[in-house]
Amino acid sequence: MSPDHHTTASGHWLDVVVATPAHRALGDTLTYRHTDELAAGTLVRVPLGSRTVPGVVWACTDCPPTGLDPDKARWVAAVLGGCPPLNPNWRTLVGFAARYYQRSLGEVALAALPPQLRDLQPEQWLRKMRKLAKSAAAGTPHTTTPDTAIWPTPSTEQQAGLNALVQAHQPVLLFGATGSGKTEVYLQAARQLLEADPMAQVLVMVPEINLTPQLQQRFVDRFGQAQVALMHSGLTPAQRLEHWLAAHTGRARIVLGTRTAVLGSMPRLRLIVVDEEHDPSYKSQEGARYSARDLAIYRAQLETRHGAGCRVVLGSATPSLETWHAAQQGRYLQLDMPTRMGGAEPPALRLLDMARQPKGTVLPPAVVSAMTERAARGEQSLVLLNRRGYAPVLACHACGWKSHCPACSAYRVFHKMDRSLRCHHCGLAEPVPRACPDCGNLDISPVGKGTEQLEEQVATLLGGHQRPDGQPLRVARMDADTTRAQGSLETQLARVHGGEVDVLVGTQMVAKGHDFRRITLVVALNADAALFASDYRATERLFALLMQAGGRAGRDASLSQKPELWVPTWNPTHPLFGALKKHDYALFAAQQLQERQVAQMPPFTHQALLRAEARTQASAQAFLNAAREAASTLEGAEHLVLYPPVPLAIQRVAHVERAHMLLESTSRPALQHVLAQWHTALAACRQLPAAKGLIRWAIDVDPLSI
Ligand SMILES: [Zn+2]
Ligand SMILES: [Zn+2]
Repeated sequence: MSPDHHTTASGHWLDVVVATPAHRALGDTLTYRHTDELAAGTLVRVPLGSRTVPGVVWACTDCPPTGLDPDKARWVAAVLGGCPPLNPNWRTLVGFAARYYQRSLGEVALAALPPQLRDLQPEQWLRKMRKLAKSAAAGTPHTTTPDTAIWPTPSTEQQAGLNALVQAHQPVLLFGATGSGKTEVYLQAARQLLEADPMAQVLVMVPEINLTPQLQQRFVDRFGQAQVALMHSGLTPAQRLEHWLAAHTGRARIVLGTRTAVLGSMPRLRLIVVDEEHDPSYKSQEGARYSARDLAIYRAQLETRHGAGCRVVLGSATPSLETWHAAQQGRYLQLDMPTRMGGAEPPALRLLDMARQPKGTVLPPAVVSAMTERAARGEQSLVLLNRRGYAPVLACHACGWKSHCPACSAYRVFHKMDRSLRCHHCGLAEPVPRACPDCGNLDISPVGKGTEQLEEQVATLLGGHQRPDGQPLRVARMDADTTRAQGSLETQLARVHGGEVDVLVGTQMVAKGHDFRRITLVVALNADAALFASDYRATERLFALLMQAGGRAGRDASLSQKPELWVPTWNPTHPLFGALKKHDYALFAAQQLQERQVAQMPPFTHQALLRAEARTQASAQAFLNAAREAASTLEGAEHLVLYPPVPLAIQRVAHVERAHMLLESTSRPALQHVLAQWHTALAACRQLPAAKGLIRWAIDVDPLSI
């Protein structure tokens, strides 16, 4: 109830967004009252049910909205003052993201704010603001660039890219080979823009910050710690708030972050960099399933229409086909940087035809001798296998039992280190049974191979060979299992850089971003799996992975040996390898785009998925069938293809059945128009008796895998 001193007519009426359930009607705001007028974008705490939650003021008027009983509206509990309101461009960005990705405004807005807002009481918030104001008054660190900063003179190629970039009026694709010095271009572009405008801010996004500590260090070295704010999930809640405020108040001039940073508040944004723009981690896989790369393009255009102008640059050696296609059509400006720094040569591709190898070959003998030769010269080798654990499945050869996960339609993976069977989908872990649970046979054995086993096999094959110092060769493994503990990734990286490792075995996480100067041989195992995967993007990802993996090799031009990328395959004549051999991404992209055009797949069509999770497959399918039926009657549905529902490849995870249906259209607006109308119908479909077991549903716009 309202306090006594508030009369019915007094005060102001606020539209406030709060973190509402995901499928509330889009654009929904709640109405609250407050004695004073509050600017749109002000942070507040408001009562919701029996709780008090953070919210953002979206609009403020001095008369009650029509149809609302003034006495029913509740009063704002507290205003979180002391910092400027979120500006109109930020609110427009959030509104666009919510609409386009079919989520509630409040969910997107609150997810973009530091999580600590939920827990901080108004007086704690005020204390924090006072402390920040005091430290800001004590020194203005953002006006000084560290004297020690070294700014190398850009190469001719970098300078040309830089000049074009800072003058560009459209999104820029910086198409640069691995090791061509794209980061230097980002650094110099940031410097130019920051020097030209003392208030300007720059956003630099990377797929995963923890994997690229060197990049963060370079920005800190050049601009100073105080100027660089971080935005990623690895920070503590207190750090996230602190860095968010630094960006929001303009004290930090550079924000370095992962995909979540695209929704950060940066009031004077003048440049957005999306490094390794092809990386799938830019697409969120939960909540609002947004693409940070696509939102970066939108945000730059928004800042240009309603602001001082903002450039956006997408950097990659293997751009996504969407980006490449946009550049080919002239919608993006393409800048080429083909030369590797320091004269390092791109790795030579060598295909090992598995049909010609001895039967039962684990690692072709040529690979073993290549590794020992390199170790003798003090060089390193990297073996990639994208499957962790010891073996993907354990089997009984007497009765055919396999290590199924009881909760998922997947096998549990055998981990030898702690003799466990672990499900990589639901996390269920149990000790390996002593005998076959079905027939009692004691002889149950691993089938297939993961990194743990590969490490063991490589060590065996290299046994007896020596390093120049007479020591035995050292094999190490890097994957999600060995790097889980805090600080272990850094320790392992340091061992590789320090030359303590001769052969490194790892998953694709090793191929991302690291700069291994002494690796001259990369061997990519099991590449064939991607060539015939049902996911139509698998070849695109394989090409990127192999180019990137090869890019790890031979960064150090002083090494005499030309770097090599070896790929064992049963399909040496596959066109992908032809393009890879020539380091010709353009050739590969042309092949792929032609296939996609013929088959009418993205980027030539636009897609959305309706995903359903249910207690039974039947109820998931019933919901999706009803939803498909409902979609077919909506305005504009004639421009869409509505596919029948199908179960997911891994149909059941943690006892939950999963299915989806695909919607496709050559017109993005037509697809969006149908999606926007669909929500009411979906809520009704959920109530159908046949869909009783439905747990949740979600729309995924521009899905990455179907
Ligand atoms: Zn058995
Ligand atoms: Zn499982």
